[in-house]
Amino acid sequence: MVIDSPDSPDLADEAASWPAVYIHLPFCARVCPYCDFAVVAGRDDLTDRYVAALLAEISSEPDWLPLRSVYFGGGTPSRVAPELLARLVADIGHRFGLEPGAEISLEANPEDWSPGTAVGLVDAGFNRVSFGAQSFHPEVLRSLGRVHLPEAVPVAVEAARHAGFATVNLDLIYGTPGERLSEWEDTLAMAMGMGPDHVSCYSLTVERGTELYRQVEAGSPGPDPDLQADQYELADELLARHGLVAYEVSNWARPGHHCRYNLAVWGQAEYLSFGMGAHRYRDGVRSHNLSRLDLYLEAIEQGASARRGMERIEGWPAELERLFLGLRRRAGVKMGPAGRRLIESVEGKELVAAGALASRGDRLVVLRPLLTDAVIRAVLALSPG
Ligand code: SF4
Repeated sequence: MVIDSPDSPDLADEAASWPAVYIHLPFCARVCPYCDFAVVAGRDDLTDRYVAALLAEISSEPDWLPLRSVYFGGGTPSRVAPELLARLVADIGHRFGLEPGAEISLEANPEDWSPGTAVGLVDAGFNRVSFGAQSFHPEVLRSLGRVHLPEAVPVAVEAARHAGFATVNLDLIYGTPGERLSEWEDTLAMAMGMGPDHVSCYSLTVERGTELYRQVEAGSPGPDPDLQADQYELADELLARHGLVAYEVSNWARPGHHCRYNLAVWGQAEYLSFGMGAHRYRDGVRSHNLSRLDLYLEAIEQGASARRGMERIEGWPAELERLFLGLRRRAGVKMGPAGRRLIESVEGKELVAAGALASRGDRLVVLRPLLTDAVIRAVLALSPG
């Protein structure tokens, strides 16, 4: 069997037809100061009720295709009992069917993980786990509001390997105020020492409405963009040296270990989603669920739809979306009408001259990942002409 490299253009294009499902599990031990996801802290008493609502939502969904990928994100899916996660996997399988070898992935925090949990989840069908490691420096972890200690991560990774997870991802964050370049290098080296199949490196961003935003507004230091650029380049170089292939702005994988769910989303594939605040794209319509736990539960328990904000994406907006999602990938995106317009625009020509953007045959590719946001701004400014 030929294994496509994670940055393969063929793989990126094929992902546009991969049916996927996203399940949102919003429970967290506490809310981290930088987090702006749809989460709830200290409400683990509601997990049974919430899973019952998810099962009801799944059962009311019209028929669809067998799935290539199922992604349990959050929040912290690993705070939910493995038996409940197993029930969800089984129900999704019965409702839609799973393609042979379908990716079934969950996000997990190291402190929730034990050998028993790992075995239970593999038995339930999970084959990919993404650990929120974030940093291997206790001070940095404390600033991020994380409750685990660095040494919990290799223990969790080892348990996942032993249980039989086919793919182990480590999520890392760079640019925490006070983190030095040498500390980030240590974090990368520690991560590489565990031989992960996949690594995601996210720059810390200050999102409006978060505790970090209030702290920065009150005068605390925020992330330093110049240092973050250096940290990104260091990660790109070091991960490549360890055989991890960059395939999206923030994601690296060994061949055969790309995240199918993410590739589907960046390929503008259709996907279903279930749970509080979950976003989906089906039949050309993007929508999201109610993002307050009590309202979501009440709607589902009364037999009503929790879906809100339905927006049909077609014509030029769909073409722009195809371009800006696809340009996040190292494989780039088929040129299409919007790509041609971009490359002919004043901004596009400037980006080409700056070495940030290039056409390669019938594709458009971002050559300098740190300038991806500038390229996306230029895409969003395009008019249909
Ligand atoms: S654990 Fe993750 S999802 Fe939960 S609050 Fe922290 S950053 Fe947000």
